[in-house]
Amino acid sequence: MLRLTDIKLPLDHDDSALAAAIISKLAIAADDLLNINVFKRGYDARNNRDIQLIYTVDVEVNSEADLLAKFAKDTQVRVTPDMTYKFVAQAPENLTHRPVVVGLGPCGIFAALILAQMGFKPIVLERGKAVRERTKDTFGFWRKQPLNPESNVQFGEGGAGTFSDGKLYSQVKDRKHYGRKVLHEFVEAGAPEEILYVSKPHIGTFKLVSMVEKMRQQIIDLGGEIRFSTRVEKLDLDEQDGQFAVKGLHLSDGDYLACKQVILALGHSARDTFQNLYEQGVYIEAKPFSIGFRIEHEQSMIDRCRFGDNAGNPILGAADYKLVHHCKNGRTVYSFCMCPGGTVVAAASEPGRVVTNGMSQYSRHERNANSAIVVGITPEQDYPGHPLAGIELQRRLEELAFKAGGENYNAPGQLIGDFLAGKPSAELGEVTPSYTPGVTLTDLSKVVPDYVTQAIREAIPAFDRQIKGFAKADGTLTGVETRTSSPVCIKRDKDYQSVNVKGLYPAGEGAGYAGGIWSAGIDGIRVAEALALAF
Ligand code: FAD
Repeated sequence: MLRLTDIKLPLDHDDSALAAAIISKLAIAADDLLNINVFKRGYDARNNRDIQLIYTVDVEVNSEADLLAKFAKDTQVRVTPDMTYKFVAQAPENLTHRPVVVGLGPCGIFAALILAQMGFKPIVLERGKAVRERTKDTFGFWRKQPLNPESNVQFGEGGAGTFSDGKLYSQVKDRKHYGRKVLHEFVEAGAPEEILYVSKPHIGTFKLVSMVEKMRQQIIDLGGEIRFSTRVEKLDLDEQDGQFAVKGLHLSDGDYLACKQVILALGHSARDTFQNLYEQGVYIEAKPFSIGFRIEHEQSMIDRCRFGDNAGNPILGAADYKLVHHCKNGRTVYSFCMCPGGTVVAAASEPGRVVTNGMSQYSRHERNANSAIVVGITPEQDYPGHPLAGIELQRRLEELAFKAGGENYNAPGQLIGDFLAGKPSAELGEVTPSYTPGVTLTDLSKVVPDYVTQAIREAIPAFDRQIKGFAKADGTLTGVETRTSSPVCIKRDKDYQSVNVKGLYPAGEGAGYAGGIWSAGIDGIRVAEALALAF
C-alpha cells in the first residue's frame, strides 16, 4: 500500500475528484488504482475564499514497486507505515500478583485496558464515582447543588476530560503510533469513525460518558477489577539505603492492598495525594503551567472570521482558533483548550474555590465559542522555593475567584471592553456568558497577579488583529483558569518508574507526562508496556 500526502482539493470538490487527483499524481491508468482509504483530512483556511481540503490517503495500486522506484525522491509518496498495535508482553499463566492502576482518567483507562488485554488483570482504584452517578453530581453542582469534593469535573470515572470538548489532538511525539491504538479503542467504544481521519477530531461530552462505560466493561470482562469511591491515601514503602520500593497501598475505606507495581495516573487536581506522596519522600518537582481567564464570543463571529462565506459548511464544522502573543513584559499569552460552540463549566474540586474550564457536545451547536486565555508561569519566576508551591498559588487564585464571585460558586466575570479599560463591569452586552451556576460581574484584575492582567490586556488587542472582533467590548471573560496542566512533575526514570521509588509508575497529566486526553491515553499505554516488561 502507498501513502500519498498533501493532496489538495477545493472544499466543494465532488466525489470523483480524489481518485482523479491520485491518478494524476501517480500518472497511472484509472484501472491501476484499486482502492483508496482516507488516512487524514485537514483543511487550509488561510484564504477563506478558497478553502482547500488536504488529504493523506493510503492507496492500493497495481505495480506498487515500480511506482515507488519512480517516486523515490518524492517525499509525498511513500510505503504506508504499519501502524497496527502489537502487544509487548503477555501475562504469565499463574499471576502471582496483580498490577494496580490509580485513577480512571484517560491515562488510567488506557493503562488498565492494555494491561487487561495482555492478561494482567489489573486492579483499578478510583476516588470518584462511576460515570453516571458522577454526571448527576457534576451537573447538580452546576445547578446550584453542593460541590462534592470526590465527585465533580475533575474526579470520577473518565477523569478530567469526561465533561469536555473531547478534542483528541496534541503535539506529542508518537513514533510507535500509540495514538492510533487510542483512537481505534475509542471507536470500538462508540466514538464516531471520523476521529480516525479528520485532522482535529473531537468527541463531545455525552458520547464520552457512554464510551467510558464500555471501556470499563472491557477491562472487567478481561479479568480486571474496578473499585470506585476508593482513594489511595498513602503508599506503603520498603526502604533500603535511601531507595524505596512499593509494598502496598493504604486506602480511604481503611483497606490495605498489598502490591508491587502501581501506575499513578492521578490527574492534575489530586492536590491532597501530591502532598501525601511528597511527605512520604516520593521525588516531586514544581513545573511550569499557565493561569488566566476563559473568554467567550459568539461562535458565529469566529466562524465568519475564519471561514468567510463558507461558514456553516458541515465539513468545516464550528471554527476554532489558536493564538499566541509574546508580551513586552516577557510573558507569553496563548489560547488554550478552545471549545467551539460550547459552554464554560465550573471545574472546582475543592470547597471555597472557583475554577473555570470548557466543554461542548459533539454537535458544537451552542451559541458561544470559548477558550482559556492564559499566561505561562514558571516555578523559578513565579512560585519558587517548594515543589508544591504551584498548588498553593492555584489555591490562592481560586479562593480570590470564589470571593469575587460572591462566595456562592458564581464565577467572577467582566466584559472584555471593561477589562481592557480597567473598570468593573455592571451590565452584560450581547454575549451572555455560559458558566453556571452563574456569573457575578466585577473587576477580574482582583483575582490574578498584575503581570497576568497586564499581559492579557496587551494580548487581546493583538489577537483582534488575527480574529476581527476578538477584542469586541461585550465579549466576556470569566475566571479563574488555573488547571491548565499539572503544577508538579513526579519524576520518572527511563524505565518509567519513579526516580526514587521502585515499582511506582507516575503517569499521565498529573505526573507531568501528558497534556490532554489523547496524550494521557498514549502515556497510559507506554507505562503499561514498561510495567509489563518489568513484571
Ligand atoms: P485525569 O483525567 O485527571 O484522571 C485522574 C483520575 O485519578 C481522576 O479520575 C481522579 O478522580 C483519580 N484520582 C486522583 N487522585 C486519586 C487517588 N488518590 N486515589 C484514586 N484515584 C485518584 N483535554 C483534551 O485533550 N481535550 C479536551 O477537549 C479537554 N477538555 C477538557 C475540559 C475540562 C472541563 C477539563 C477539566 C479538562 C479537559 N481536558 C481536555 C484535559 C484532559 O481532561 C486531561 O488532560 C486528561 O483528562 C488527563 O488525563 P489523566 O488520566 O492523566 O488524568
